[in-house]
Amino acid sequence: MRAAVLHEPHAPLEVREVETPAELLPDEVRVRTAAVGICHSDLHVIQGLVGRPMPIVLGHEASGVVLEVGSAVDDVQAGDHVVACFVVFCGRCRMCRAGQPAMCQDREATMRGAGQEPRLSIDGVEVHQWTNVAGFAEEMVLHRNAVTAIDERMPLDLAAMLGCAVATGVGSARKVARIAPGDAVAVIGAGGVGLNVCQGAALSGAGAIIAVDRSAHRLELARARFGATHTIDASAVTDVAARVREIVDGGADHVFEAVGAPGLVEVALDATARGGSVWAIGVFGDAARIEFSAAHLHSGKGVHGVRAGSLEPQRDIPQLVEDHLRGDLELEGLVGERIALADINRGIDALAAGTGARTLVVF
Ligand SMILES: [Zn+2]
Ligand SMILES: [Zn+2]
Repeated sequence: MRAAVLHEPHAPLEVREVETPAELLPDEVRVRTAAVGICHSDLHVIQGLVGRPMPIVLGHEASGVVLEVGSAVDDVQAGDHVVACFVVFCGRCRMCRAGQPAMCQDREATMRGAGQEPRLSIDGVEVHQWTNVAGFAEEMVLHRNAVTAIDERMPLDLAAMLGCAVATGVGSARKVARIAPGDAVAVIGAGGVGLNVCQGAALSGAGAIIAVDRSAHRLELARARFGATHTIDASAVTDVAARVREIVDGGADHVFEAVGAPGLVEVALDATARGGSVWAIGVFGDAARIEFSAAHLHSGKGVHGVRAGSLEPQRDIPQLVEDHLRGDLELEGLVGERIALADINRGIDALAAGTGARTLVVF
């Protein structure tokens, strides 16, 4: 099967033949990929901000159809439509047993061991699977806990985005921040995740929802289709935090950093009301350090890390599918362009340039 392989940081991906094992292990499934989103955290690996062993196949929000299952798999079967998601959990560690699979402490348990034939290889040499998914490929060999079966009425291309952008954004608002009706919310960064924080806030009944971005197009989208009540164009406004405090007296109750720029955490704190919370969703890179005035802590403000929107795939992904089929969850508005695997480098360049919304690779 063909896959897009990253051989070293800053290089273009090479679309080429990659081998998968003929035989599945008992806990594995083989999925024919239908669609995969290109996400900022894929870009972070390409740009060398997040170090990973190479060569590697990226792509961590994908959808597809199950081709075959291992002998121990009884919750999905051939023909099922599934979302493959980067929250791959062991199911046995303390976090998994406590119902927090996104915090799983033993991801190695969901990978193949050192002595085993790798899930992906070129001429017998291992090709690594980013986040145990590797969705930039026509076929995925996955641990059973990487996939969640979904309602077949759900369009498979849109379903791909449920695995990361939507789960992270909506989950951060609904499950992690637990936004209450009437709360004031600001979202810094209106890309794939930020737009979904806006719609998660709207689904939670938030009062003011302020979207902040440098792109007029994204801000328009946030207001027209994702529930934002106000927008701030960061390319035109010098003091974004002051503008937030003008819109909602004293600042927002919840401010989400959805860009992954360390300097924006203090901007977010400046935009937060006393006693309020900053939710750091962005991926800052392995070497990033964050500085802010300690006075914010004396104002009762907190900065919280967010991991995958605390996603519980088996519970939350079917819920998101239901939300969409009922007409409550906007997805089409997230899609900038649909492209073929052969054109994937164009989609990556577009993401790096910050021009479009989500680019979907469709197979
Ligand atoms: Zn992602
Ligand atoms: Zn676990």
